[in-house]
Amino acid sequence: MVNSSKKIILLLAVCFASALAYAQGTDATFGVPFDFPLVLSGNFGELRSNHFHSGVDFKTQGVVGKPIRAVADGYICRASVQPGGYGNALYVMHDNGYMTVYGHLDRFPKRIADRIRKYQYENETFNVNLRFDSCEYRVSRGEVFAYAGNSGYSFGPHLHFEVRDSSGNELYDPMRFYATQLSDTIPPGASSLAVYPFDGLGVVCGNAASLTLPVEEGVVRDTVEAWGRVGFGIKALDYMNGTHNKYGVRKFELLADDVMLFSSCMDNFSFAETRLINAWVDYGRYIRSGEWYQRLHVLDNVPLRALETDAGNGWLVVDEERYYNVECRLSDYHGNMSVLRFVVRGKKCEIPQERTMTHRLYWFQDNNVDYMGMRLNVPRNELFCNASLKVAMEKGSSFSPRYRLGGEEYPVWHGAELSIRVEDDVKVNPEKLYIRRVAKKGYRYAGGRFEDGWVKANITILGTYEIAADTMPPVLKPLNENLWGKNGKIVFALTDKETTVSSFKGTLDGKFVLFRYSSKNGRLTLDMKEENIRRGTHELRVVVVDGYGNETVFEKEITY
Ligand SMILES: [Zn+2]
Repeated sequence: MVNSSKKIILLLAVCFASALAYAQGTDATFGVPFDFPLVLSGNFGELRSNHFHSGVDFKTQGVVGKPIRAVADGYICRASVQPGGYGNALYVMHDNGYMTVYGHLDRFPKRIADRIRKYQYENETFNVNLRFDSCEYRVSRGEVFAYAGNSGYSFGPHLHFEVRDSSGNELYDPMRFYATQLSDTIPPGASSLAVYPFDGLGVVCGNAASLTLPVEEGVVRDTVEAWGRVGFGIKALDYMNGTHNKYGVRKFELLADDVMLFSSCMDNFSFAETRLINAWVDYGRYIRSGEWYQRLHVLDNVPLRALETDAGNGWLVVDEERYYNVECRLSDYHGNMSVLRFVVRGKKCEIPQERTMTHRLYWFQDNNVDYMGMRLNVPRNELFCNASLKVAMEKGSSFSPRYRLGGEEYPVWHGAELSIRVEDDVKVNPEKLYIRRVAKKGYRYAGGRFEDGWVKANITILGTYEIAADTMPPVLKPLNENLWGKNGKIVFALTDKETTVSSFKGTLDGKFVLFRYSSKNGRLTLDMKEENIRRGTHELRVVVVDGYGNETVFEKEITY
């Protein structure tokens, strides 16, 4: 009797353990966050604007609200709410030494949600960044602790999931814990090859600068003729089974005549490195066409740990009139590999002289350019290679001339300081002045403040700039006003034409009330039901301000 009941308990325990193992995955370090099969819509290290994707994006079957299970024991160490970025996000510190991050959440568990709401009302703010200590919000592996959504800068329901070290600065590819949960038999593929001459030391015969060649069915049909030092770049994507999503390529290897010149592996990186993406990719081509070409060589000053080269930084030296057999291997986390082979024909042709422009900037020193009402300071180590600039001045806005700092191919790591002198007879409050970049299609806001007759901004690309003035208040447009009282949802479209919205605040009968803002679609929303507003007539007031002191006020009596 005793024996058989023990057996039943044992059997139950085994069943329970295997059911849990099934639901939570088999990895010892981390379980899976969902009860349905994992599919990625984005992978680790993918190329994004000014950063590498710092985690993976798990699809959530097209809906918001899927429960998320804690992947290991630990505690919730941080919660944040933002109009853009990760939107609603939770950070969990695990007992195993890792931290995991959950972005674009639909909602928080009640205990956290209550704490956040209290903070928002006490501080009269929508934005939240709260840190918790280890005894406040414990979670156990498998416990539902959040709900996936589409908040922040997200364009479809998914969970942005990160694995970090305990400091939160080092990011790891979550695939190291989830590879067995995903099936992938499809290798990455290239669609185009770029060939770059080394300025002053190499040439792609018959071309003044770099050249791109199509890849058709895995083959480059054209033969490249070159002399001296040349480098390569590749436009490529990765794929997985059962989905139409496209991913970044985890690993590249470049070999010439079977000698490895360059390799890269996106396995981990730190936040300090993430902007180095602009040094790895062909930034000029990206800015002009939006296409990502990844360099298979390294510029002079690129401390990105994912890249490894031979002593020649990955450049091929063509110094004999013969064929050089080059191959580029592309592989993914599951070891699927494709190989792009092409031939470089060594042919003596004249190497153009190094570009000599009016200004030369060096990555290893502090650089100052002082030019007819424009000052540029590029600190040491901020450039990824030496830059040759043709600085020019032309007719600009009514506030300053327009300054051209070379051709937009030079990105800056953290930033350079650009100052432009304001024209003497400007008839606008100088507090409204800012700097904008003149891009191929329209203007890009670059920030900046007026100071002693100049406007000073931190810029991250050596492009074309001028001063502009923001005198336009933000636009606050009520949407479906006739339904406000009926469904209890007050919705505005909030946009700022020239610069950005810097703050917003709503009150009902003079008391703060929580409006939520989503910067991706510019929706500013008050849900009166959720905020426990009593039914009746209320005085609504909404004030929005942009970064240059322009204000818009909306006032109305509403009946709910
Ligand atoms: Zn993501």
